[in-house]
This record gives sequence, structure tokens and C-alpha cells, in this order.
Amino acid sequence: MRHRIAVVGGGPAGLTFARVLHRHGRPVAVLERDPSPDSRPPGGTLDLHEGLGQRALDKAGLLAEFQALSRPEGQAMRILDAAGTVLRDWKPGPDERANPEIDRGQLRDLLRDSLDVRWGREVTRVVPGTGDGVLVQFADGRQETFDLVVGADGAWSRVRPAVSPVTPQYTGVTAVETSLDDVDTRHPDLARLIGDGSVSVYGVNRSLVAQRNSGGHVKVYARLRAPLDWHAHLDLADAEATRSGLLALFDGWAAPVLDLLGHGTAFAHRPVYVLPGSHTWTHVLGVTLLGDAAHLMPPLGAGANLAMLDGAELAEAIAAHPDDLDEAVRAFEEQMWARAAGWSRITTAGLERLVSPDPAEALALFDQVQPS
Ligand SMILES: Cc1cc2nc3c(=O)[nH]c(=O)nc-3n(C[C@H](O)[C@H](O)[C@H](O)COP(=O)(O)OP(=O)(O)OC[C@H]3O[C@@H](n4cnc5c(N)ncnc54)[C@H](O)[C@@H]3O)c2cc1C
Repeated sequence: MRHRIAVVGGGPAGLTFARVLHRHGRPVAVLERDPSPDSRPPGGTLDLHEGLGQRALDKAGLLAEFQALSRPEGQAMRILDAAGTVLRDWKPGPDERANPEIDRGQLRDLLRDSLDVRWGREVTRVVPGTGDGVLVQFADGRQETFDLVVGADGAWSRVRPAVSPVTPQYTGVTAVETSLDDVDTRHPDLARLIGDGSVSVYGVNRSLVAQRNSGGHVKVYARLRAPLDWHAHLDLADAEATRSGLLALFDGWAAPVLDLLGHGTAFAHRPVYVLPGSHTWTHVLGVTLLGDAAHLMPPLGAGANLAMLDGAELAEAIAAHPDDLDEAVRAFEEQMWARAAGWSRITTAGLERLVSPDPAEALALFDQVQPS
């Protein structure tokens, strides 16, 4: 039987799901809110782990393409204290492929090739149990019915309310993001400070992290423990006011480190929200969730990896049970919940240590998880 399957969201979770299902000869509609692939900047770089994101890409038949595009040298990590002293300077060996980096845009293009992505389809509501299946309502007033609707629409999922009343909660840690272009030619001192991968500087309840993307582009994140409205007195659209506000918050840090904040022309506020680590729901016929929509956790390098593996595994489960779609979804959900709960504990504890009253905690975490 041919089921009508839709996935809401063309991020890492939704595209991996669609790609693996497509590989098994099963049609799936990808419903994406963005009007086109290039309608907004795709975001920063992602490290894809061998046993998670890379495993998903293998299931999608894209591992070789990923290896050709990804940046193993981007795994390099340097850690400084607020005085600018280098505390750790880790570089990957020549064959180190555990967590290579790839730009989000490159990953998206890799995954979406040959898929039927319907751009400009913003879903507003999903209504299960309508007799003819699950009703999907769109912002433009259209509606369509499917046998299975997979919510891969990220942190603020519009599919999630169909299965769960839970919403993301603020962690108490926020971030302000800016970026640098052509860093090697325009900011050679910063390029040296950042190295081939990332530099992280830890202070009391604060950090500055700069990470290379491809083509000399760098994302800079200022993280701090603060109330959600800490910027009430600042207009974040005013780059100079935001820069001054941030520099005041990092007062006393070494000048070469603060220079990371000195050149960005736009700043975006990115508070860290999470879903409870124990988030599950009573199974609902015809609707499920993947990735951040199901298990939003602190951004410590796991979210996209889990999202992709969720997508690949749900697709494989559906392909393996062509006559029992619901059983495939139920079994998948149990597996996803167990894995996500473990990673949620790890990343939540990690965030506590990375933005901590004691900066030595961040260094201890690095020494614990990083191969020497
Ligand atoms: C600064 C930062 C750095 C990170 N670094 C890493 C890293 O190195 N490694 C890692 O594994 N993870 C990382 N993460 C986490 C990772 O970005 C997320 O976990 C991952 O993107 C989740 O993928 P997803 O497909 O579930 O959701 P998303 O990536 O959020 O994709 C959701 C998609 O759904 C679409 N959408 C949303 N609402 C609707 C709607 N109503 N209708 C239709 N479409 C809709 C969106 O446009 C989007 O395309 C990082 C996160 C941050 C913030």
C-alpha cells in the first residue's frame, strides 16, 4: 500500500528522513516554510560524528560526498583563558575523521538533491484523527491530508502540539552571534587566533567562541548566563550599541580576545532553550516528531547529529514495515526517546560546565571528552 507521507521542515532531520525514504523508493512530501533554498543565510557549521550524523549519511548513500566536502581540519580546538593565555591547542591527526565540519548550506544541498521539496509551505496546524487521515493546515489557507505527518520543524514546532503540550524553556544561558568574512585577508591576527577550527575563551559565567566555516567565514558567539531580558536597554539592531554593551559585559578580558567582537556588522540574539530531557508523548496515530521538535537540547554538537539519525532510522523503519506504518512509528519513537534522553543529560551537564562560575570546569570538560 502506498501511504501518503509528509515531513514538515527541510532541516537536517526532515531532509535525511526524506532522502532515506526516497532511497527505498517511497515518495514523501517535504513541506518547508522558507520560500526558497537561498531565502535566508543557512547558519553556521556542523560537526558530524562518526556514529551519529555520518551513520545517517551512510544510510542516505551520501557518505562519500560528505567526506569530499567536509573539513577534517575544522576539528581543531584551542582554549584560552580571559587573559588570552593558550591553555589547550588540539589539532586533529592526518587521518582523524571522528567529527569533521560541514557548512549547513552544503549539507542541506547534499541532502535535498533529487527530493521533492515544496518551498513556501508554512504549516500552522496539524489535526490528527479526521477520518481521512491527518489534516495539515498552511499559512496561506490551503490544507492537505496525509496518512503520516512527521514534525521535523525544529524548536518551535507547529506539529508538536498535535502530540504534546510541552514547550521549550529558557536555560538561563543566552548567546549573541556575529560573523566575520574573509578573515584570513581582512583580520589575519584573528585568523591566527582562531586557527583551522575554533577558539573558545572561558571566563566567569561567560564565554567567547569563534568557529571557522568554509571560505574564510567565521561565526562568533558571546555566551553568558543572564535573564532573558538582559538586553532590554539595548537595541540589538544597532550594531555599535550592541558591540559596546557586549564589550562592557566582557570588561577586563584581553584585547586580542575582545577583538573577536570588534568587527561584526550585525548581531543576533540566540537564547538557549531546551525541551525537558524526559520529553515523550502518548503515541498519536499518524503523527510523530524528529530532531529538535522532539528533543531540543543545548547546542553542544549533538542536535543535528541526532536529528539526522532520527530521520534515517524512521525512514528505514517505515521501509522495513510496508504493511504496518503505525507499528514502525511506535517502535522508532521508543528508540529515539531513549537515545535523546541520554544525550540531553550529557549536553545539559555540559552547558552547566561551559558557562560556569568556575571557568576551570570548561577546561576539565574539554580534557574529559577530547582525545589527546
Ligand atoms: C549555534 C549553534 C551551533 C550548533 N552546532 C551544532 C553542531 O556542531 N553539531 C550538531 O549536531 N548540532 C549543532 N547545533 C544544533 C542543530 O543546529 C540542531 O539540533 C539541528 O539543526 C536540528 O535539526 P532539525 O532538522 O530538527 O531542525 P531545524 O534545523 O531547526 O530545521 C527545521 C526546519 O523546519 C522549517 N520549519 C520551521 N517551522 C516550520 C513550519 N511551521 N512549517 C514548515 N517548515 C517549518 C525551518 O525553516 C527549518 O528548515 C547547533 C545549534 C546552534 C544554535
